[in-house]
Amino acid sequence: MNSVLAPVKPKVNLLDFDRKGLEAFFVGLGEKPFRATQVLKWIYQEDVTDFDLMTNLSKSLRAYLNESCSLATPAIEVEQKASDGTRKWALKMSCGNQVETVFIPEESRGTLCVSSQVGCALACTFCSTAQQGFNRNLTTAEIIGQLYVAQRQLGKTQRITNVVMMGMGEPLLNFENVVTAMRIMMDDFAYGLSKRRVTISTSGVVPAMYRLTEECDVSLAVSLHAVRDELRDVLVPINKKYPLKELLAACQDNVKSSPRRRITFEYVMLAGINDSLDDARALIKLLKDVPSKMNLIPFNPFPNAAYQCSSAAVIDRFRAVLHNSGMVTTIRRTRGDDIDAACGQLVGQVQDKSKRTLKLQQARDASVSIRA
Ligand code: SAH
Repeated sequence: MNSVLAPVKPKVNLLDFDRKGLEAFFVGLGEKPFRATQVLKWIYQEDVTDFDLMTNLSKSLRAYLNESCSLATPAIEVEQKASDGTRKWALKMSCGNQVETVFIPEESRGTLCVSSQVGCALACTFCSTAQQGFNRNLTTAEIIGQLYVAQRQLGKTQRITNVVMMGMGEPLLNFENVVTAMRIMMDDFAYGLSKRRVTISTSGVVPAMYRLTEECDVSLAVSLHAVRDELRDVLVPINKKYPLKELLAACQDNVKSSPRRRITFEYVMLAGINDSLDDARALIKLLKDVPSKMNLIPFNPFPNAAYQCSSAAVIDRFRAVLHNSGMVTTIRRTRGDDIDAACGQLVGQVQDKSKRTLKLQQARDASVSIRA
């Protein structure tokens, strides 16, 4: 066969594998499984990207890796720094697609907010990512690559100590790749983060929540946002498929697995929609059997948003009711708002395959012509 026409075999990106995957890969090459931990250390702890510098591997293995494997990370397209020190990176994923990753420095920790999908297949009405539609799931390499790129940019003085899967996308709809990436985050031969410092946030994909409880021990955050199904059906439409009763049963199943575990419930504060004292009281009742922490999120606005944020006084009053009932309740401080890096503001660039952007535009055009 003419070698010019022979298809070029794509290189295997080693960032796609957790320890188990790498062990299987090396055993498949006739190598010992411990090559996996050696290579993990080189990649994630020594920051070595040149296979030739991985000196505890045999020469022939290094040659093979050079020939057939890569350590490909997403490329940075834009890097921004907010006045409060928050940093945001727009990362190039594939033709025309871009996702965003945010680093939030605090006194005692540094949290990276990681994306799991290009866009989002869900249609939460108060979220900017949702307005962009959906393109595809990120690969494991693209998820773990966000930590890799961010840590490199941060240098040695600022460490990523916590990860929250709260960027673009619904992580539990990209289960395999997200869980594989989280295993790398928690592996002592890679980032070595404790399970309490790796949090997955879900809008409530109930079957995947049960699976997560079975397969991967990480902290769970649930985007609740409403105490009644009729309202949650509108704010978080996946509720029509998995209503509150089923969601709370999955939460209870998760906390059962470990006695000290609590679920963090996220509750976005929307003026006149879900912020009354009755809502607060109903919330206490709803969660009385689930060990929980409550995180109130002031609504972050975006263009064409149909909601407004509750006033500071209303949020404080809401918090006080929950607090007085004994519920640990925090108000999430908005970070990086001068670079649109806050919750629900991540947009990147999504080549929408779901046609949602088109439908939203048509709905806006229709409402303009009714008003005209
Ligand atoms: N899909 C996952 C992770 C996404 S975002 C989930 O739904 O949990 C992380 C958090 O930001 C979620 O609680 C989400 O509901 C919230 N959020 C989305 N848009 C927001 C906005 N405009 N203002 C404040 N919080 C928002």
